[in-house]
Amino acid sequence: MLKPSPRLQPSYYEAFRCVGSVCEDTCCRGWRVPVDKQAFERYHSCSHSELGPRLQTLVTISPAPDSDESYAEIQLDQGVCPFLKEGLCEVQATLGEEWLCKNCATYPRVMAMVDGVLERSLDFSCPEAARLALTNPQALEFVEVAQERDESRVGSVGIVDTTNSQHPDKPFRYVHEVRSLMISLLQNRGYPLSQRLLVLGRLCDKLEAEGTDHGCRGLQDITRQPAAIEPRVSMPSTGRLETVVELILACIGSDATGRRFLDCYQSFMAGLHWTMESTMEELAANLDAAFAGPLAQFRAQHEYMLEHYLVAYVFRNLFPFGSQSVNRKLAQHQFEHSISRQYQLMVVDFVVIETLLAGLAAFHGAAFGVAEVLKLIQSATKTFEHSLTYPGKAVDLLAQRGMVDCASMSMLIRD
Ligand code: SF4
Repeated sequence: MLKPSPRLQPSYYEAFRCVGSVCEDTCCRGWRVPVDKQAFERYHSCSHSELGPRLQTLVTISPAPDSDESYAEIQLDQGVCPFLKEGLCEVQATLGEEWLCKNCATYPRVMAMVDGVLERSLDFSCPEAARLALTNPQALEFVEVAQERDESRVGSVGIVDTTNSQHPDKPFRYVHEVRSLMISLLQNRGYPLSQRLLVLGRLCDKLEAEGTDHGCRGLQDITRQPAAIEPRVSMPSTGRLETVVELILACIGSDATGRRFLDCYQSFMAGLHWTMESTMEELAANLDAAFAGPLAQFRAQHEYMLEHYLVAYVFRNLFPFGSQSVNRKLAQHQFEHSISRQYQLMVVDFVVIETLLAGLAAFHGAAFGVAEVLKLIQSATKTFEHSLTYPGKAVDLLAQRGMVDCASMSMLIRD
């Protein structure tokens, strides 16, 4: 029997079950499917009379693989995996689950090994994962469990080791401490969510300025007095809308945007009465009205959905230090690792979601509810998490507008 290994995961993690053919989206559409080297070799020696030749033609070595985990990829057919048949995976149905590549065997589970603890979470680009995680009004909890290792479900794992005295992984040394403090801050419902997000920016600023070698020293004071945050730079509604729309268009133009996200964008435009003749002033006024009216009404009952989104983001992305996947994408755009960039990316994702929600709330009126929020968060996450190009583009766009630190992001956060 394999040795049990400690695991840390949100309490809903074990409840996840793929709903397969009744899924309103599918993980086999809308982004490239990376194939690890072992699976590639298995596929290229597969002797199955029908699937073997197709695997050997349709699974090809990536043009620029950056690791064995993304050694190859499946050639999609009009954005859809060619092995998807009537909502089911042909590789799994014909050859068995053990034939799946690590990415497909693991999805939507996200793993990171931090100092010997396997941290597991779910990727909200899966509708069922988003539903499980976002619909419980109670604060999100994380639990420690010890389980036998199940390698088929481990997949590709980013490894962080801060305990190695010769080569400790920096800047992750205080990841547990810092991340826990940030999660408690985000779950402090004594303050509006926007205030919590602003204070999070202050914490990130302080960590960036003073370095990460002191852990939470000095950070608690800021979280104890969230109301004491100094006045921030404001931005005219039109400038804020222009910036967010540019970010939304960067999502749409990225390499991982699906039909469901485009549907949401079209409804957002209709909700703002956006026509060829609309001026930015009119659109910004319509958006302000949507924030103050239908979205505010929804948030009064369901603000917890956005809180859970942020808390899960912090956990899954080892915030504010960044998962290996996010850091690799930023490095491809020549952006060095920095805490302020991690904060910028989080705020960008949040304001894109929040802005689109306001337009959707205006569009759907009384029918607007949890289902529309889930659809938006799921389809937006598919772009945020799976696009290779979007994170770099978003940081670039902010830099062009002079937003290069945490403080400047406060201009995009609405009260
Ligand atoms: S997106 Fe999620 S629920 Fe849908 S098919 Fe994939 S794993 Fe299953």
